[in-house]
Amino acid sequence: MTTDERVQVLVVGAGLGGLSATLFLAQRGVRVLGISKHGGTSTHPRATGQHHRTMELLRTGGVADEVLQGSEGVDGLVIKVAESLRGPVLHTIVHDGEDPASALSPERPGLSGQEHVEPVLLDRARALGADVRFRTELTSFEQDGTGVTARLLDRTTGRSSTVRADYLVAADGAHSPVRQALGIERTGRGRLSSHIGIVFDADLDDVLAHDRFTLFYLRNPAFTGVFVASNTPRRNAMAVEYDPTRESPADYPPSRCAELLRVATGLPDLEPEIVETTTWEMAHWVSTRLRDGRVFLVGDAAKVTPPTGGLGGNTAIGDGFDIAWKLAAVLRGEAGPGLLDSYDAERGPYARLVADGSLNNYVRRMAPHLAGPDIPDPVDPHQLTLGYRCRSRAVLIDDDDPAPMEDPFQPSGRPGFRAPHVPLGDRSPADFFGDWTLITLDPAWRDAPVRVPELADPTGELARRFGIGARGASLLRPDGVVAWRTAEPPDDPAGAVRDVLARLLG
Ligand SMILES: Cc1cc2nc3c(=O)[nH]c(=O)nc-3n(C[C@H](O)[C@H](O)[C@H](O)COP(=O)(O)OP(=O)(O)OC[C@H]3O[C@@H](n4cnc5c(N)ncnc54)[C@H](O)[C@@H]3O)c2cc1C
Repeated sequence: MTTDERVQVLVVGAGLGGLSATLFLAQRGVRVLGISKHGGTSTHPRATGQHHRTMELLRTGGVADEVLQGSEGVDGLVIKVAESLRGPVLHTIVHDGEDPASALSPERPGLSGQEHVEPVLLDRARALGADVRFRTELTSFEQDGTGVTARLLDRTTGRSSTVRADYLVAADGAHSPVRQALGIERTGRGRLSSHIGIVFDADLDDVLAHDRFTLFYLRNPAFTGVFVASNTPRRNAMAVEYDPTRESPADYPPSRCAELLRVATGLPDLEPEIVETTTWEMAHWVSTRLRDGRVFLVGDAAKVTPPTGGLGGNTAIGDGFDIAWKLAAVLRGEAGPGLLDSYDAERGPYARLVADGSLNNYVRRMAPHLAGPDIPDPVDPHQLTLGYRCRSRAVLIDDDDPAPMEDPFQPSGRPGFRAPHVPLGDRSPADFFGDWTLITLDPAWRDAPVRVPELADPTGELARRFGIGARGASLLRPDGVVAWRTAEPPDDPAGAVRDVLARLLG
């Protein structure tokens, strides 16, 4: 096969996962081609909300403020289980702007919708030099010892071409043709429910507060579903469960959708304009591995999680960031290919926790009849997003605590965990995420071959939280995870950091 073009990384998919990988690769100087078979970014307000950790990663990409602009004027959250938007309310999950995690990060969470975030990521990726093409489909690929050869179809011209890449990132969604071609199995509960997704325009001033992001899990005699308000005036979305063995999408013409919306809103005279109806399956699947040779699964391709918890989009961004810094380090010759083993080792167990915790949420919020011993235990959302422990050869863990997470309100600063947030005047350790950084108060470390910011610690909290005392140091990876720490300086501090990096990066 002759090759028409050559890139370092081919990213298949331009959703939240693919665009994140593309942006963070381009930011690190990697020649990256991103493709999507669709005509553009998502027009649906699907995944809404960016938690603190996601915002920290987006900040390193230079897009945090633009992402937050998508939810300007919205500064609270209402999540309820109810019969309709007018009640009765069966259970309040979140009401208003309470954010106990605000002390854990310098970032505030975003409430922007996917239709706002994707274009922000796309523009930034292109500005950083990435080539992103829509209406471009991956039709087949093969890998060998030195790279991946992919065949692409330009859906506008009908022309086929081939591209050769060192690595392929598969961010090609829940059905992931790449995962299927590789024969990577998934385990899980599988399909939980089928939905008719209804995007509609209507004036809901009587039932919605516009300065609040509103999400209602609806359980009423007519149907079970989810209502999600968008940040676009009058635009909202609702998903209604249906039984595909007894009905088809054709059974949901606009007149029936409008009737369901009247029930959902509790507004019997509502005349909604139906913008679009789609079908969607809520499911619980985790791929048994996230890597095959030179191919890596990201986002929904790696796991499909029920949206109860709002983690699908956040995890896709986290996966994209993770594979990007690791691939870039290898492609730039800063790390050996062994570093890439850490992607599956760290993101695989995380995908399982995300999917299982969201499944537990789904059963409690929408499907109590499924409750039973085979449903996974609840997962604390703060531990999951800010207290997860990475375990791989890319962290030097020096204790035998097997816990997968810790309470981020009591961060231990141990290797594997995200660096604790400690206010440093108007700065935070999170300001240094994005690059290898040594957190220390002792100038003896200043020649270490990574960034060593000058830090003051008038309250002693930095030394205590990081467990480094006055003379030790904590080495942060580009994702802000503590890779290694010591409480005492060795004889040759810079040499010690060099040795540690050599161990971590192979
Ligand atoms: C109706 C709906 C509602 C949702 N609600 C929520 C929610 O409330 N909260 C939440 O967190 N998540 C929600 N999700 C899930 C969330 O949208 C996903 O988790 C997130 O978008 C995953 O992003 P991704 O990049 O992995 O995949 P996707 O966004 O699915 O992107 C897949 C990409 O792959 C491309 N692609 C596929 N095959 C090929 C090919 N052969 N060649 C080229 N390109 C290809 C597509 O064009 C697309 O660009 C919802 C999803 C849906 C469908």
